[in-house]
Amino acid sequence: MANRLQKVLDELPKGVRLVAVSKFHTKEFIEKAYAKGQRIFGENTQQELQEKATNLPKDIEWHFIGHLQRNKVKHIAPYISMIESVDSYKLLEEINKQAVKNDRIIDVLLELHMAKEETKFGFSRESCIQMLDQQPWRNLSNARICGIMTMASNVNDAQRIAKEFDEAFGIFNELKEKYFAGDDAFRERSWGMSRDYGIAIKHHSTLVRIGSYIFGPRVY
Ligand SMILES: *Cc1c(COP(=O)(O)O)cnc(C)c1O
Repeated sequence: MANRLQKVLDELPKGVRLVAVSKFHTKEFIEKAYAKGQRIFGENTQQELQEKATNLPKDIEWHFIGHLQRNKVKHIAPYISMIESVDSYKLLEEINKQAVKNDRIIDVLLELHMAKEETKFGFSRESCIQMLDQQPWRNLSNARICGIMTMASNVNDAQRIAKEFDEAFGIFNELKEKYFAGDDAFRERSWGMSRDYGIAIKHHSTLVRIGSYIFGPRVY
């Protein structure tokens, strides 16, 4: 584990940060990575995150990376660092409401689906623009939109994956210009996982979310 973690960290260019995806792995895995200096960890269920956050060092930055139900937001709002998987305006509103209650800012990413697979959660380019045009998101004082997150198609085709990341970068730039010009917080591009982070870091990623490559296969 330590060797793989170090290898990834050595490979990351300046300006790209690692989210170590610890879902389905025990606290001991996180503690080992923590001892090596890793501070950002990703989880995709509220219950598991709650359990780990309660029992691990408080300076860990937790990123939520899975589909998040609105009724779960209140449980993670006191400590979550970033919610990467915002896929509806209603979820964004609820995150803001709970952030206000906790008197803190919660950073979020808008999840876009670039992959052609039908089941993926997330906005299309069009539905994202429609949301930003029509909803009063600028009034949400405590949910700070910091960029976009996406996942490439699960295929063995490096060119296609690179093209999807480039498309996501195009959407990022479009949103930046239209809605977030001059907003320094809007700068994150979360893409790249175990199978494709090597491509992602060459194609405009600023956050890579890597689990199994570092921690080994998950036992579900
Ligand atoms: C599980 C997960 C990852 C990490 O996947 P690996 O293949 O283990 O690197 C990244 N992003 C999301 C959204 C995930 O759910």
